[in-house]
Amino acid sequence: MEDILLIEPNYSNKYPPLGLMKISTFHKQLGDCVVFAKGKLTDNLVEKRWDRVYVTTLFTFEWEETKKSIEYALTVVKDKNKVFVGGIMATLMPELFIKTFPTITLIKGLLNRDGTVGLRDEKCIDRLTPDYDILDDIDYKYPATDAYFLYMTRGCGMKCQFCAVQTLEPEYIPYISIKDQIAEVDRRFGAKRNLLLMDNNVLRSNKFDSIVDELIELGFGKDCTYPSPRTGKPLKRYIDFNQGLDAKLLTEHKAKRLGELAINPARIAFDHIEDKEQYKKALELCAKNGIKYLSNYILYNGEDFTGKGQHYHADTPEDLYIRMRVSMDFCDELNDKYGHNGRVHIFSFPMKYIPLNATDRSFVGTHWNKKYLRAVQRMLIPTQGKGVSTRSFFEADFGNTTEEFIENLAMPEELLGLRGHFVERANESKEEKKKRYAQWEINHARIFEWTQLYRSLGDDFTSYVEIIKDNDFSIHNYKRITSPTIRKMFIHNLSYLSILRNIEMLGTEMLAYIKVEFPTMYRELLRYVIKSEHTQFSCMKGMLTLQGNAYIADVIRAFIEEPYLTTNVFDALYKAQKDLKKVVLDTRSLDIALRYRMANAISDTELRNIMRLGIEGDEKKIETRLYQKSRKLKDVLREKNKDEIAGDVILDKIEEVIGLLQKVYRKEVK
Ligand code: SF4
Repeated sequence: MEDILLIEPNYSNKYPPLGLMKISTFHKQLGDCVVFAKGKLTDNLVEKRWDRVYVTTLFTFEWEETKKSIEYALTVVKDKNKVFVGGIMATLMPELFIKTFPTITLIKGLLNRDGTVGLRDEKCIDRLTPDYDILDDIDYKYPATDAYFLYMTRGCGMKCQFCAVQTLEPEYIPYISIKDQIAEVDRRFGAKRNLLLMDNNVLRSNKFDSIVDELIELGFGKDCTYPSPRTGKPLKRYIDFNQGLDAKLLTEHKAKRLGELAINPARIAFDHIEDKEQYKKALELCAKNGIKYLSNYILYNGEDFTGKGQHYHADTPEDLYIRMRVSMDFCDELNDKYGHNGRVHIFSFPMKYIPLNATDRSFVGTHWNKKYLRAVQRMLIPTQGKGVSTRSFFEADFGNTTEEFIENLAMPEELLGLRGHFVERANESKEEKKKRYAQWEINHARIFEWTQLYRSLGDDFTSYVEIIKDNDFSIHNYKRITSPTIRKMFIHNLSYLSILRNIEMLGTEMLAYIKVEFPTMYRELLRYVIKSEHTQFSCMKGMLTLQGNAYIADVIRAFIEEPYLTTNVFDALYKAQKDLKKVVLDTRSLDIALRYRMANAISDTELRNIMRLGIEGDEKKIETRLYQKSRKLKDVLREKNKDEIAGDVILDKIEEVIGLLQKVYRKEVK
């Protein structure tokens, strides 16, 4: 009996690792002890050394996580030659693995041959029933587990250049019966509700009718149910051909047969704009045959390639938008035609193309750039991975036209996230709602301002894209800009902190833009420092250098408008002036005034009056006011602290501070 450790690297994925689950079944049949880990072991088995460790691999861009798992495996295995690495990435890039980890044993391709893991009695591990029990060994929860994960065909044979299937599963097997596997799962782990068929291209099978017949026989015909294990109530069950259905191969007959199944959703790839007509035809065939839940994969960021006997051009951002729009518009047409018996729903899933040999996600297609790719990711956040399905969301998020879409791609990322209508919230007080609405108006003023600038670009559009394309919003990049409009647009990409820190480098021209042309931003910058208890003095130096006491007056005015008593801004202002060796106003006195207010030694009106003295730069008057109120402060503090533990010590300290204040005052009035 051997000790076997199975590891799936610590990346997020939707489906459990079928290969490892089958290897587990195989080893358990040999009487071995099997443990499964996500990333690494975290429990009391950490000291244990293993006879064999299997690491699965998935996407090439998960190389960093994959490396970590193999490094870990090598530290916990007894013999470094007994780390077995297989799966998709290991099959696609074997040289990289061997070069990086020379002692490991690589398993290329499927486990469908004798001797793939070099053990006695090994016969086609790929056909074994996956061991669901190992999923209980880890805390990670796969979104889909109450399902059979099976294949009824293998391979594809369409040889699309960008697709890994021809390397992973070069041979097309048109029919694999799943009856026995389902019976075995039912017997060992209990019946599962749904069926996930991981077939690459089921529609290519010349045994398609037999496949459908078997699925119906197994209880996955249209509207079939399954008794809930908890309540016994019938639950609808679904089949998901989760790798998608090939639109090109969908015929009237096959669509009719698919319509006999509990298929939800029917996933139809729309990878290229050139496939528009066949994609629409496939959707229509599905809708006509009662398949109401449809979804698509929309590959973007792709390159020129050939596949399915034709040439496709590298996709453009416009292509992505148009494909989404086609789905949305065609959904309405289908509903007009076939929706009388329940509406048709189409969920679009834009998917970024990453080449088969990329070891990270940074690939940028010919007609794309980093900024645009990032913007698409940002736009998809609200969908939470559930796809784009409603027209209202699509148009608000992506835009009403291709031009609007490109505009959105070029928009600063922060502003992209601030679009949208003002939405009222339940249980929100009037005051809170007013505040939120005011902020919403500011956000929309920022979006409007940037949009106006964008729309005035004219021939400068190309130069703007050239500046933003690498998503590099550093001051170094800013310095390359010659157009005043692009400079203004650029700073909308900077955080407030970055603007403040770099205002000297941005220059007086930008300061004038912020203060005069778009004062909303200047007000926001003031609010930014006032609303913080941790403003760093260094970020105020630039404004002080450019504006001197006008800036101090602006900060005080902004404070009067929207007081925030726990701010440290006045202390930071003093430190910034001191650091610049030019103290125009000792703003610490304003900081003391805040403390008076917090201790209730002065009223709001008195605080405002003191602040106004600050605007006038009248330090003396401020100190006089504070001194006059020191007796009140002393009384308040005495009263407040009388019941405190060590109250005497506190009271002595209060006396000492007030005394000091009086001394300073007397010295200064003399
Ligand atoms: S049809 Fe699909 S599975 Fe087949 S090679 Fe092309 S992309 Fe890959």
